Amino acid sequence: MRLSQMLFVTLREDPAEAEIPSHKLLLRAGYFRRIASGVYAYLPLLWRVLGKVSKIVREEMDATGAQECLLPQLQPAELWQESGRWETYTKAEGIMFSLVDRREQSMGLGPTHEEVITAIARDMIRSYRQLPLHLYQLQTKFRDEIRPRFGLMRGREFIMKDGYSFHPDRESLKKTYQDMYTAYSNMLRRCGLTFRAVEADSGAIGGSGSHEFMVLAEAGEDEVLYTDDGQYAANVEKAVSLAADAVDSPFAAFTKLETPNTPTIESLAEFLKCSPTQIVKNVLYHAGYDSGVTALVLVNIRGDQEVNEVKLQNELSKLAAEYGGNTLLTLEVPDETAQKQWAAKALPLGYLSPGLSDEYIQPQAKAFAPKFLRLVDQTAVELKNFVTGSDRSGYHVVGANWGEQFELPQQVVNVRKAQAGDRAVHDPSQTLQTARGIEIGHIFQLGTKYSQALGATYTSEAGEEIPLVMGCYGVGVSRLAQAAVEQSYDKDGIIWPVAIAPYQAIVVIPNIADEQQVEAAEKLYSDLNAAGIETLLDDRNERAGVKFKDADLIGIPFRVVTGRSLKDGKVEVVQRASRASSDMLIAEVVTTLRQWIDDALDS
Ligand code: ATP
Ligand code: MG
Repeated sequence: MRLSQMLFVTLREDPAEAEIPSHKLLLRAGYFRRIASGVYAYLPLLWRVLGKVSKIVREEMDATGAQECLLPQLQPAELWQESGRWETYTKAEGIMFSLVDRREQSMGLGPTHEEVITAIARDMIRSYRQLPLHLYQLQTKFRDEIRPRFGLMRGREFIMKDGYSFHPDRESLKKTYQDMYTAYSNMLRRCGLTFRAVEADSGAIGGSGSHEFMVLAEAGEDEVLYTDDGQYAANVEKAVSLAADAVDSPFAAFTKLETPNTPTIESLAEFLKCSPTQIVKNVLYHAGYDSGVTALVLVNIRGDQEVNEVKLQNELSKLAAEYGGNTLLTLEVPDETAQKQWAAKALPLGYLSPGLSDEYIQPQAKAFAPKFLRLVDQTAVELKNFVTGSDRSGYHVVGANWGEQFELPQQVVNVRKAQAGDRAVHDPSQTLQTARGIEIGHIFQLGTKYSQALGATYTSEAGEEIPLVMGCYGVGVSRLAQAAVEQSYDKDGIIWPVAIAPYQAIVVIPNIADEQQVEAAEKLYSDLNAAGIETLLDDRNERAGVKFKDADLIGIPFRVVTGRSLKDGKVEVVQRASRASSDMLIAEVVTTLRQWIDDALDS
């Protein structure tokens, strides 16, 4: 392709809308344009990158025996009502775009396709003989994200490969899951990314099997905890660890003490000269269920620990039926305005005790459950003679014990957040390290959640009707393309991995008024393309300096310049990544580049 004929517009300055390097560079280099919040036009250079990523994704998927199809983006509400997700996905913080059509039917734009694929399986899979089966698609997904940002990283319209597998049993699912783990690792490696597969939260569905593929980069929105021995890596949402040991409490007798201005654990520990591990902290949450009921949740946890809200959500989801619902919709730490909806009198915030009376809840606050839901984290259960609030502002109690001053809540949970520095469970001599990650892929053992909800069953060899066991597997194709840049750039621009670069080589004519330069460049351009090397020709009437800057910015792996050394029958060849430059005989350019490209694609 000739630059003179392309839509080729680069910017020298960083656009104001971009915060992270990959977003800035891709905008400056003209790869995409923002049309609305989280909505982008993929311009020709980016489209080639996305094409290459898609090709690698397809090759790896096809190699596992999965079959490609294309499912509708427009989906009827009924299917989502059957699975019980319509409300969760379209109300409150739900991310599904929905609409009412001219026939007054509710529809949604697909954020994911479990419902659609399960409906197909319900219709078409009858017998164990048809199993296992795995269908996938590459498609634009729609999600009305609460915080669209960082360009293609978190869009509201983006490209995903999503696949769904159907199995007679868990064994068969595990095998496909393992194949997908390998396929995903291959995809990311072939795209030139440095990544880590980590254990991930599988939400309220439960089950053990879920991994995320994280590209490690500072701009990542996820936190990954791992050990140096390579034996453990997990998303912080899911991670487990051993909490530090608690220090024995110096408070042998139960006493109430005046502790002015100590609403935080830090200020209290300092005032009492005690360790945060001797304090029971009491955190209040609003848990909103789809039944319209909000539960007031009081979590007791050791003072040095934080609540992992994902783990707490999973616990609260299990209790939905007790509040007349099916699912948890929201979980919030209530601010003062929110508390006013139910508090009978001002709450002693910062001084709450585990015994906070249910009388704080107004009986007429009908949307709220009349009693606190009391959960105690394992870290707090073991404490003796602990310090905690007294339900009176400015006062705490010390030397308290479960079963004496405070009743131990019946529900003991594990909701503490693992943190960097904690000891690892598999080997306490290892400490957890932290890194930022961009979630590129997610593989998931779904089990029978959707097949049961939609009644998708098959007949087993023994003639029984059994719900299909399902897995699902997603990779963010457009997010992957940008993540590659986030991992590979320098002060001058993008450095594409060869496998997904929009073009592999660019021939630059420093001075298009020089006939010799033009002639040599034209010949190289056609020879390179003829040899299957995807080549650009910068034949624009621009200064040489501008052309070199642009070539660096757009990140083409190999640059060939028909400049001064032409008189010796040579051209300058520059490698974008290493900046290594050499004068090379024209006759050797095609074979050398072919070799370099093949080497890069092999590794
Ligand atoms: P996240 O936690 O980042 O919101 P998710 O867990 O909701 O993602 P999945 O439903 O697992 O995402 O989707 C599969 C893949 O699709 C993700 O691993 C990610 O690569 C990609 N993806 C998800 N949401 C977006 C988005 N808003 N923009 C671009 N890619 C996305
Ligand atoms: Mg995910």
